[in-house]
Amino acid sequence: MTFQALGLIDPLLRTLNALGYHKPTPVQKQAIPAVLAGRDVMAAAQTGTGKTAGFALPILQRLTMDGLTGPQRIRALVLVPTRELAEQVYESFRNYGGNLPLRSAVAYGGVDIAPQIAKLRKGLDVLVATPGRLIDLHDQGAINFELLQTLVLDEADRMLDLGFERDLDILLEALPKQRQTLLFSATFSDEVRKLARGIVKDPVSIQVEAANTAVKSVKQWLVTTDKRRKPELFLHLLNKLAWSQALVFVKTRKGVEALVKTLHEHGVTADSIHGDKTQPARLRALERFKRKEVRLLIATDVAARGLDIEALPQVVNFDLPSVAEDYIHRIGRTGRAGMEGEAVSLVCADEVDMLKAIETLTRQPIPRYVEAGFEADHRVPETSSNATPRKVPTAKRPSGAPQIAKAPAAAKTAARPAGGSESLGVWTPPEKVSKQAGRDDNAAAKPRGRSFNTSGGSAPKGAIVVTSGRGTKSQARSDGRAAAKPGARKSKPGSR
Ligand code: AMP
Repeated sequence: MTFQALGLIDPLLRTLNALGYHKPTPVQKQAIPAVLAGRDVMAAAQTGTGKTAGFALPILQRLTMDGLTGPQRIRALVLVPTRELAEQVYESFRNYGGNLPLRSAVAYGGVDIAPQIAKLRKGLDVLVATPGRLIDLHDQGAINFELLQTLVLDEADRMLDLGFERDLDILLEALPKQRQTLLFSATFSDEVRKLARGIVKDPVSIQVEAANTAVKSVKQWLVTTDKRRKPELFLHLLNKLAWSQALVFVKTRKGVEALVKTLHEHGVTADSIHGDKTQPARLRALERFKRKEVRLLIATDVAARGLDIEALPQVVNFDLPSVAEDYIHRIGRTGRAGMEGEAVSLVCADEVDMLKAIETLTRQPIPRYVEAGFEADHRVPETSSNATPRKVPTAKRPSGAPQIAKAPAAAKTAARPAGGSESLGVWTPPEKVSKQAGRDDNAAAKPRGRSFNTSGGSAPKGAIVVTSGRGTKSQARSDGRAAAKPGARKSKPGSR
């Protein structure tokens, strides 16, 4: 099957050729003819499957073949949940539409609205936007939907997770009822189906992976340990397995920054992406990582979507996410477009319920490993019948994976008797530390992990600990609503 056989026009075929896309992915095979035929689409497709081109290519073609835009008008609208995804989808439209006479732009919150208003003045063919900022633009009279012919809801499940339901209601009310609607979602929960019922008409259903199964090309495994030993275990594995580059997910923003600090202390280059960072700072961190100027990119779930990093071999879940679906999105950052990838999770006892939820969602147990010297005092209960742990094997050190110069300081004081440890790199088996029976894992008495104060560590009394879910939601809100006019919308405060 070729792109030509799907009915794409010459300028698009030339672009695809230049990009090195030789044949359509399964989602593209199904979506491109359906969208070209003007049909509505409901597609269960994860990131990494090529879904963006699946909708962008036929939309660009239809826009080219028919009609023109007008002042403040847009002809195609792509709604996405996060700024990162907005940038990325916009970039895809620009790339794919490089040989076409079409105008596109991106709009999200947290940045000046004036340039976005200016772009809209002459009208656009394609606008990629987050819901909140789009409502602001609409409230300010900067955009008119009367020429809108195609609406895409990308990552619809994520939009609902992030609390955009009310925003979507407001927008759907404002959009013309006669239109083509394409709904893409990694997972199809009851909420997504409910949303879909009201907006897609007689859709072509596309399912490229069995629903809720993790991307098959990603090899997944986990290592159990105690919560507060995660930083030293992470450094140890980084060294032992010689990860040349990895995207590392941590649950909280505070945890992200603490891990970055620890890594810097050990001479490992790392940058961070989370909701407290400005958009330019996030993009800068991503670019540095893409250019391989830093070895590790540490992120909260706000970054789990929309990051497309070519040939990223490794994802590490330093913490499991708070929502099982996010696991699928996180690991979908690797193994993209048919390449091999690996996702490793560090799991402690209090994450066992999330582990169970993830294994239920993906319908597969995650193979379990232990690392000598890092066994959990607080056993992580078994979640599946094949939970007999194996030892983490040693990797061949590829070029570009430097050995960590300094031993993790805490490992020396912290680790338990290694007992014939196959420990590697520079980690030295410690002197025997007596174990106190029944000690709480979070108790402060043993000075383990002193220099590894990350999210696993206990917060100072009275400190506000930001959780991932909350941070993500509030981030999503500020993404879209930084410039909202008070009282401009009908929804209840706090409900969106
Ligand atoms: P997506 O699932 O849309 O985020 O796309 C995942 C990655 O696959 C992106 O890096 C695309 O550039 C790439 N890609 C999309 N379609 C193709 C194709 N037909 N052949 C090769 N790479 C592709």
